[in-house]
Amino acid sequence: MIAINEIFYSIQGESSFAGLRTVFVRTAGCHLRCTYCDTKYSYGPGEKMSIDELILIIESHQAKHVCLTGGEPLLQKEALPLMSRLCDLGYHVSLETSGDLSCKDVDPRVLRVIDVKTPDSGAADRFHKDNLNLQGVNIEFKFVICSEEDFYWAEEFVDQNHLSNTYSVLYSPSFGEIDAKWLANKILNEKSNARLHLQQHKYIWSPETRGV
Ligand code: SF4
Repeated sequence: MIAINEIFYSIQGESSFAGLRTVFVRTAGCHLRCTYCDTKYSYGPGEKMSIDELILIIESHQAKHVCLTGGEPLLQKEALPLMSRLCDLGYHVSLETSGDLSCKDVDPRVLRVIDVKTPDSGAADRFHKDNLNLQGVNIEFKFVICSEEDFYWAEEFVDQNHLSNTYSVLYSPSFGEIDAKWLANKILNEKSNARLHLQQHKYIWSPETRGV
């Protein structure tokens, strides 16, 4: 059984799957408390569901993409077999995770979108070093940038760990806190190797909604 906060169908707003029709499975619970968290409602216990029950709901939406998000999905051990089962069924699966838990046991067919928490998130000391040694191409490191200090911290982290040689590196402006144009210019002027990453759903709908 896995504790679920919500399941919904919308346009993926993030990662290299951005723009695609996706079923989102939001697990319940998170052990972090990032300053900019926009899913505080997921902290509660949620509703327990079996993998079979989840798959029936996912199938009803007739989408090829499924995103497992949270909260923190990897807090629940059933998240691993759920992702593998979805891959076996032919779904393109992505995982959004805080970076604080190891992704080494996640099925390599899954697109792993791994946060690297910056100092202004309040959780910069919570990165699991295992995540720097993952194999495969389906790995994206995402930094939510809240300030100029965060930008330079991220640049140093990427540089020290040679992230952009092997993985996609995404810089996302903290919505409502950092202007996307400012971050775009910063990436240009500093010749950063990061990809500007906007949360499309927040520009299409209001930050509190996400489509149907
Ligand atoms: S890891 Fe994600 S869900 Fe957890 S507190 Fe941070 S932003 Fe919120």
